[in-house]
Amino acid sequence: MILSRFLVYTFLSALAAATPFTKEPRSRDIQPIREAYPGIFWDDALLQCGDEGFDILVEATRMALEVVTFRIDGPIWELPAWNRYFIGLGGKGGWESSELKGRTFVDIRHNIKQVGMFPRNGKPSRGGPFKRTKQVTYRCKEPELTNRCAQDPSSGGYWRGPTAYTQNPSLTGDGWEIVFCPRFFREDRIRYINRITDGPRLPHTEISRLISYEYAIIHEWMHVDIFGYLFHIEDVVAAVPFHAAQRIYGDSLCHKFAWINLDTIGGPDTGGVNFKTAMNADNYAWFFIYNWFHHKWNWDSNGAFTRRKRLVERDEEPEPYNDLSDTVMDTDIDINKFIIPVNCHVSGNDYRNARCDYVAGDYDDFVKELHEPFYTRKGCVLSAECHLSFGNYAVDPKCTCTCDDEITPLRDPRCEGFAGSLPTPPRT
Ligand SMILES: [Zn+2]
Repeated sequence: MILSRFLVYTFLSALAAATPFTKEPRSRDIQPIREAYPGIFWDDALLQCGDEGFDILVEATRMALEVVTFRIDGPIWELPAWNRYFIGLGGKGGWESSELKGRTFVDIRHNIKQVGMFPRNGKPSRGGPFKRTKQVTYRCKEPELTNRCAQDPSSGGYWRGPTAYTQNPSLTGDGWEIVFCPRFFREDRIRYINRITDGPRLPHTEISRLISYEYAIIHEWMHVDIFGYLFHIEDVVAAVPFHAAQRIYGDSLCHKFAWINLDTIGGPDTGGVNFKTAMNADNYAWFFIYNWFHHKWNWDSNGAFTRRKRLVERDEEPEPYNDLSDTVMDTDIDINKFIIPVNCHVSGNDYRNARCDYVAGDYDDFVKELHEPFYTRKGCVLSAECHLSFGNYAVDPKCTCTCDDEITPLRDPRCEGFAGSLPTPPRT
C-alpha cells in the first residue's frame, strides 16, 4: 500500500515537474488527429503537454506540413529560397557540374518531398494500425535521467538550451522522439507562422526574426530518419568566413554556408555550390520558411548572397536554438552517402527532372524490404512490385493489391499506397 502510494506520488510529481502547463489534460478524442497524422505518435504528448501545449503541437504540425509543401512542385532550383540556402542550378561549379553534385541535388529534392509526406502517410503495418516504433513520438516530458530543457528563463528573461530536440531510437527503444521543451511553448517570440504572416509585412532582410513553432518543428523533423531521408541529416559544424567553427544554425549562417565556395563571400570561386548543405537540418528549415514568406509577402530578393557592410551586420541569432542533436564536422561528411536513392528515377544526367517515389519509413529498411509485399492503410497487401513506379511514373503493371484475400483493382481506395499513378483508363 505504502509502496503503491509512493509510486503514484512519484508519477504525479514527475508529470507536474515536466509539464509546461499545470492544468490536468481534459479527456478528448484524439482519434481524428491520429488518423490525420499517422507518422506521429501523439499519445505521450496528450498526457504530457497539457491542453494548450497539445493544441499548439497539432496546429503547428498541420501548418508545418503546409509550409513544407508550399509552392515547391515546379522547378525548385528557380526559387529564391533555393538560391539562398542551396544555390540555383547552372554556371560554373553548379549542381550540374559533377556527378556527385547532381546526385546530391536529387537527394535534397527527395528529402524535401519526404518531409512533406511522412507525417500524413507514415508506414502502415500489417492489419492497418501504425506501430509506435515506425512513428515519431512527440513528448514534453524529458526521458529519465535527461535534463536538457531549461524549465524557466534566466532572471534576465532569456531562455537557454533548446526549444526542442530529437532523440534517436537507440536511446529508448520506442522509436524516434521529439522532445518539446518549456521554451518552445513559453518563449514570447516563438509564434504561429500564421500570426506572423497576418501581422505587419517585413522585408526579406528581417527573415531571422520570423521564428515560429512551425520552424522549430520542421528543423526537428529533418533529424528524424524514419521520414525516409537517404542519410541522417545532422547539425553540421563548419567554419564560414568571419565566424569560428560552429553549428550552422540560423538564417545567416545557413545562407553563408551555402554560398561559402562562391567568390561573393570570400576568397576565389573554388567549388561552386556547397553540396554539404544536403546534410544540414537548418538549411532545409530556413529554405521552407523563406519560401513561405517570399510568396506571402512578395519579397523581391532573388536569394543571392550580397556582402553587407560590417557596421550594419548585427548579431542575428544571439540565442542559438541549440537542439543538441548529433553534429558532424563538415570535413567529416562522408560524400559516399550521396547516391541516387533507389526510389528516384533519373534519365541520363537530367538530375533536374528526377522523380522520386515515396519511401514509407526508414530508407535503409525500404531498400531491404523492396522485394517484399507491404501494407496499405486500409489493411490490403500490395505486391513487391508496387514499391517503385515504372516507365513514365505509372504504376508497375505487375503491381497487385489484395484485400480480404481477393485481388482488388488498384483504383479501389483501399489500395492507396502503391508508387506511381494509375494507367490512363482505356478510351471507350
Ligand atoms: Zn538540429
